[in-house]
Amino acid sequence: DLLVVGSANADLVVGVERRPGAGETVLGSDLALHPGGKGANQAVAAARLGARTALLARVGDDAHGRLLLDSQRAAGVDTSGVLVGGAPTGVALITVDPSGDNSIVVSPGANGRLTPEDIRAASALVTASRVVSTQLEIPLETVAEVVRGLRPGTRFVLNPSPPQPLPAEVLAACDPLIVNEHEARVVLGADAGATPEEWAGALLALGPRSVVVTLGEEGALVADASGPVRVPAVRVAAVDTTGAGDSFTAALAWRLGAGESLAEAAAYAARVGAVAVTRQGAQASFPTAEEVEEIDEV
Ligand code: ADP
Repeated sequence: DLLVVGSANADLVVGVERRPGAGETVLGSDLALHPGGKGANQAVAAARLGARTALLARVGDDAHGRLLLDSQRAAGVDTSGVLVGGAPTGVALITVDPSGDNSIVVSPGANGRLTPEDIRAASALVTASRVVSTQLEIPLETVAEVVRGLRPGTRFVLNPSPPQPLPAEVLAACDPLIVNEHEARVVLGADAGATPEEWAGALLALGPRSVVVTLGEEGALVADASGPVRVPAVRVAAVDTTGAGDSFTAALAWRLGAGESLAEAAAYAARVGAVAVTRQGAQASFPTAEEVEEIDEV
């Protein structure tokens, strides 16, 4: 059973010809409203694959919070750990220009109020889980409290996004730490190295039991004490990479919980991420296990 501890955001998306400057107003397209946030995305991705999944998160007592709860329940996620109130639901204000580039302002709202105390109050959910998956759109001290509450034998997965330097206590618990190139560079600081193998080696030296570096259309690299292994990408016609990392991480966490090796779980996760990039959106792009089997390679 998988527990995702993380963020839930309402994504408010407007297409614009160009972005407004200071003091300026521009007219945009009709508003699109989507459930998002890395925690909510991971939980939906795992549940859609068939994983028994629970979400521990905080949303506001408002329409966006209800949208997020509805999308979790529709995917089959156990929402008994979703706390309500304390601040408005987190939102991401997203403008997309004609070249497809995004500008995003995030208001963390209720995500910033998911506290260490909330984690202690939900300790039964944490100890009941085989795998706990986290990201950094909630306070780092809250993630650290998750680490302290782990039962021996529970596997802890962290995608440090948005990235920041991590305390040794959190790094030591990661099995694996999952990063893309940008996240690897921020976590490592100055001397990151030049290749994914070097990043993985330097990250392992910081204490995690294993590391996964995701490389977009180049696939991924997994590394633990037995050395690095490349996981090739599945070749697909990509249309929108939003949500690829979240679905990859969710799939990997679930397969690890089912007893697969890191390399096996990453190969499955690469198939899930590949399907996600062939479809528009984040949660809307996540496949079922059947769709992962029927993948269209190019
Ligand atoms: P993030 O969104 O966190 O930067 P990536 O872009 O590396 O993460 O994507 C996560 C995983 O999804 C990759 O490791 C890869 O397996 C898969 N993936 C991403 N983009 C593509 C693509 N264009 N073609 C095939 N697989 C992809």
